[in-house]
Amino acid sequence: MRENQKSNNIRAEEGKSDSQHSDKASSRQASNKNEGNNHYSKGFSSDDGLSKNLSKTIINRQVKEKESHIAKLTFDKESRFTKTILQSIPPESQITSAKFEGPNIALYTRNAGFSLTELTYHLSNLSKTMKKRFVIRTDPSIRMPEDGTRRTVAKLLPKDVLVSAVFCDDATGELILEVNKPDAVSPEIIIEIAKSTGWVAHTRLSPNLPSYIINTIHSTLKSSARERLIFLQELGARIFRNPLVEQSNVNSKGTLVKKVNTLEPPYIQKAQSQTKEVILFCLGGVKQVGRSCFIVVTPESKVMLDCGINPGENSGIDAYPRLDWFNFNFSDLDAVVISHAHIDHQGFLPSLYKYGYNGPIYCTEPTLPLMTLLQMDSIKISKANGTYLTYEVRDVNEVIKHCITLPYGKPTDISPDITITLNNAGHIIGSATVHLNISGVHNILYSGDYKYAKTQLLDSASSIYPRVETLITESTYGSSSDVMPDQSAVYSTFTQSINQTLVDGGKVLIPVPAVGRAQEIMLVIDKEMREGRLIETPIYIEGMISEASAIHMSYAHYLGYDVRRSVSQGTNPFESDYFTPIVGPSKREQVLGDGNPAIIMATSGMLEGGPSVEYFKEIAPSSKNKIVFVSYQINGTLGRRIVDGTLTEASMLDQAGKVKVVPVRCNSHKIDGFSGHSDFNQILSFVSRIRPKRVLVNHGEKSKSESIASTVYRKLKIRSGVPDNREIIKLR
Ligand SMILES: [Zn+2]
Repeated sequence: MRENQKSNNIRAEEGKSDSQHSDKASSRQASNKNEGNNHYSKGFSSDDGLSKNLSKTIINRQVKEKESHIAKLTFDKESRFTKTILQSIPPESQITSAKFEGPNIALYTRNAGFSLTELTYHLSNLSKTMKKRFVIRTDPSIRMPEDGTRRTVAKLLPKDVLVSAVFCDDATGELILEVNKPDAVSPEIIIEIAKSTGWVAHTRLSPNLPSYIINTIHSTLKSSARERLIFLQELGARIFRNPLVEQSNVNSKGTLVKKVNTLEPPYIQKAQSQTKEVILFCLGGVKQVGRSCFIVVTPESKVMLDCGINPGENSGIDAYPRLDWFNFNFSDLDAVVISHAHIDHQGFLPSLYKYGYNGPIYCTEPTLPLMTLLQMDSIKISKANGTYLTYEVRDVNEVIKHCITLPYGKPTDISPDITITLNNAGHIIGSATVHLNISGVHNILYSGDYKYAKTQLLDSASSIYPRVETLITESTYGSSSDVMPDQSAVYSTFTQSINQTLVDGGKVLIPVPAVGRAQEIMLVIDKEMREGRLIETPIYIEGMISEASAIHMSYAHYLGYDVRRSVSQGTNPFESDYFTPIVGPSKREQVLGDGNPAIIMATSGMLEGGPSVEYFKEIAPSSKNKIVFVSYQINGTLGRRIVDGTLTEASMLDQAGKVKVVPVRCNSHKIDGFSGHSDFNQILSFVSRIRPKRVLVNHGEKSKSESIASTVYRKLKIRSGVPDNREIIKLR
């Protein structure tokens, strides 16, 4: 895989530099994930020979059946749209067809140069009148073969731009270029590439270490290009279907009495709006942290918000969202929206495909690779521990194929009456608050996990919304005593705590969630050591941290302003001379066996599987050592029991699978200030900034959620409440 990537390195010729790079040229581009480098790496599926041919035949047949189904479903509406569009746009654009494609209308052009420039001005007007988003695709007939594309791109790029990987997405005609200087690839170059090759390029930063997860995603996308195109077209037909309310306005002769659309007088729209009910089903993550899941139901749509598991529960009815209770047909679901990659928000997602869901997932660009990483890791851990997991690799593949990634701030129609907008939540890279505009009559803001303050890694959660009727807020740190000290005090406590153990000759274990806190802690440790406050000592890093850091680099434009700036100056903030990555158990023994002080960062963050548990077994018995917790510890996890101080020994499996008792004599220290969650005051400032009509509190232990709800009511005079799992709330 790496050889191929090397061979893809292209040194290109001179060109202009422009910090806007591909954004302008691609601003009309749809939201598909499809980032990429090379597609040679093997996908997850390991089918071969006969079974491969057989499954190919079956897939081809299914694809053909679906194609004719879509044709029937969309013919009238699509041809109506095509006619209107073709009449109103300049013939120079050479549009060969207009098709529904996911949340957009795709226009296929034979004149990429014109369509990516002048046509976009026409489309912005058309978009306003038709209330639809357009995306320019190149007609497949003008797309150059991949080899030729690589050579041509090499000639068009500036000399100092090195390409580490190229990914051509046949489903969309998009070309992903992983380069060392994305800012140096100007919109003019992007247009030149499109004119010369027939591919619309997007750039992304090359991580120093190639990300195997991003490679895997590309190979899965590559091998499913045709299937995905069909999926997107079918989805487009579904999103743009005639609303039920509209169809009900038909008289006994079958004639449409009044057709509701945006061009009609406001009184008609009002009449329609009165019929709009909005109902919220709480399926998990209320009065608890874990298994976050809601379903919003309107007369037209059913949309799921998050689909997590509860890491503190092993299996059964308490570990997963209560989908059994909602008792719906999975195919009725219009969409699943994932706020961020942590498993308590997406850990049940692959299982949906296993049990029959076939629709889209919407999330931000970094969320897809991060959740793929965590899902693959769960499979690995369940295999290693012999524990049950509700999904397999092929279900993770389905998540990749059905994922539609959206940038922050782009309103997107996901059903006939729901438009969503994702915005920065400041919690982990790519984390989003989800704003749902339901027919313009009710707006829900689902906060997911958010930090309403700046951190080392990220900017503060955005809080500017024109209108929110219902805010669903998390309350992880919702008790009035959950007030975090300022950042410098947190760093100083952290440094002093570690120094104390190092001076005593002990080892410090920092269990970290691979995604988010690990990167934050890496930045802090590097800074504290470089500036002489933290005693210089080896820092070992094990688990998925390196891979997660590579993904952070690839999507550095999602990080906070300060980190973005240092990345654009050529620094990789996740690399430091102090860090030593550890790969495999034999190296682990060296780290533990040398008897010298050391700092060990390892996943998982709550000591629930992964290398941190292996280190725990060796670190726990000695009173010289210390475990420093830097993230929230969910009830029921080993981490939580240590933090609560209730554990004197732990029964664990050894390498041979035998139960061994580990005495817990080491020190432990929980430091809250690193959290990616808002504290009590930050939650209240967020709520008062949003000023919703109603607040529903979730994602917190019962007392913390109740504390937020009562304070919001008392101080802000906003109606508020804490629902129960399995509660139905009529929002409108
Ligand atoms: Zn989270």
